This record gives sequence, structure tokens and C-alpha cells, in this order.
Amino acid sequence: MMGTLDDAARRVDDNVSLKLDGTSLCSHCGAVLGDSSDVLRAAHWRTQPAAQAGPCIRVDASQFVNEPVRLRQAFCPNPDCLTLLLTEIITATEPHLRAKALK
Ligand SMILES: [Zn+2]
Repeated sequence: MMGTLDDAARRVDDNVSLKLDGTSLCSHCGAVLGDSSDVLRAAHWRTQPAAQAGPCIRVDASQFVNEPVRLRQAFCPNPDCLTLLLTEIITATEPHLRAKALK
């Protein structure tokens, strides 16, 4: 589902805009991402081992936490866009607590 970016849409960050009715949109293509209660609800999520984040992840996380650490990323759901919207390093069981909610 595509929304429209117009003057009434306000940018939340570089990739997400919010319309006055609370609908969140990809700032690059206008795809609907969710609403103000869960800005990235319709995003495509990918979870991989934390080492996939690159050379900045150098230390074995098992020295610090008792569960695996993962790289979790959210992408625009429009297959012609697929902009990376969010990247986070989290423990494997952490819910989507860091997803954005705007009130
Ligand atoms: Zn997009």
C-alpha cells in the first residue's frame, strides 16, 4: 500500500515521515510503514548474527550476556525501494521495544 508524501507529512528522521492522520510513510517512496503507535509495523525485518554488522563487532558477546546477540534491521516494504530504516544490535530474545512510537 502506498501513501503520498505531501506538505502535511513531517519527517521523523531521514527515512520516515508522519502524516497528520498518524500514518507513517517511507520518506523515499511513500510506502505505508505503520502509524504513530508503531511507526515500523509494516517494515520487513531481518535478523542475523551480530558479526554480520561488520568489523565493528569484534568481541564475543558470550563474555557479557547469556544469550546470542543479533543484528536486527528494518527495511521499507516496497520491493522497488527497500531502504534500510533501522539497525540495532540486540539480544536474541529482545522484543521490538526499540521500534519507534510517536504520541
Ligand atoms: Zn521506501
